[in-house]
Order: sequence, then structure tokens, then C-alpha cells
Amino acid sequence: MVFVNSDAVAPEVVRPPAQQAAALDADRDLELVLNFLNTCDVEAGTDVLDDPEHWRRWCAERGLGAAPESTAAREIRYSMRAAISCSAPAALVAPAWQVQVEFRAGIPVLTGADALGDVLVAATHLVHTGYWDRIKICPAENCLWAFYDRSRNRSRTWCSMRVCGNREKARSWRERHSG
Ligand SMILES: [Zn+2]
Repeated sequence: MVFVNSDAVAPEVVRPPAQQAAALDADRDLELVLNFLNTCDVEAGTDVLDDPEHWRRWCAERGLGAAPESTAAREIRYSMRAAISCSAPAALVAPAWQVQVEFRAGIPVLTGADALGDVLVAATHLVHTGYWDRIKICPAENCLWAFYDRSRNRSRTWCSMRVCGNREKARSWRERHSG
């Protein structure tokens, strides 16, 4: 006969990993928000929002809800970029946008009613977790790329040495070798 040892350690109760899920989502939220901010590419002279079909595809490729009218998306993007680069008054332009609360395994979760809502839910997460404060806009006039500053002391100014840094290097090389 086999006796069950009553002193055996009970298996740990597995709770819904809300915090774990939130932590794992941070990178995804960040990527989505940066991608949205960079739907206008100053260097290439392109803007996803200029073409309704492109905008719809952009939303679909990311598994977001339906693409709303691009006018609102443009205003919200403009306002978010202005807030990040601290050109304050323009930040007042954005219209309010609806998101909702759903319960997943009893845990309240913000969800978007459409693609723009999905982006704004991600942005809200970033604001609440402090990630938002490290989003920056490259100040090079022909760049204005949105990026996340991972430096220890938040000292990064340019989007990347590979792009704007190299451009700067190339210019000084030309200057040194011209006559
Ligand atoms: Zn740049």
C-alpha cells in the first residue's frame, strides 16, 4: 500500500501572471508606439497616413483593430510627437479617443476599439510604466525619427550613430577633403 506523505509541500498556487504579462508586453507596446510615431518618415519623404490603403495595411500587419480615418491618426500622432519633443501648445490638438476595459481571467485590461485605440492603449501603458519618458525625437531636421533612449543616464540625443552619426561623419570627411 502506498501512503501519501501529508507533509509534502503543496504545489504553489498558480496565479494569473498579470505582472509578468505586463512586463512582457512593454517591448511590444514600445515597438507599436515607436512604429506609429515613425509612420511619417522625414528622410524618405513618405507618410503611411497619406494613403488610406497603406494605413489599413499598416494596421492589419500588426494585428490591430480596424483602421479609423487617418485625419484623427494624424492629429494624435502630431500631438504625441509635439509632446515628446516638448513643443508644448501643439499637444492640445489631439482629439479624445475611446478605449475600453475588458476582464481577462478577472484582470482588468485596457483594449482599443480600433487600431488607433490599440496604439493609444500601448502609449498609455508606456506613460504609466515610465517608458514614455525615454522616447525621444531625433533633432536632425531631415530625420525627426522617434526612438527609445536606453542609455543609463538618458543622455542620447540622436536617433543613431549608424544613421545621423554617420551622416555627420561623412560631412566632416567631405569638408576635410575638399581642397
Ligand atoms: Zn536621426
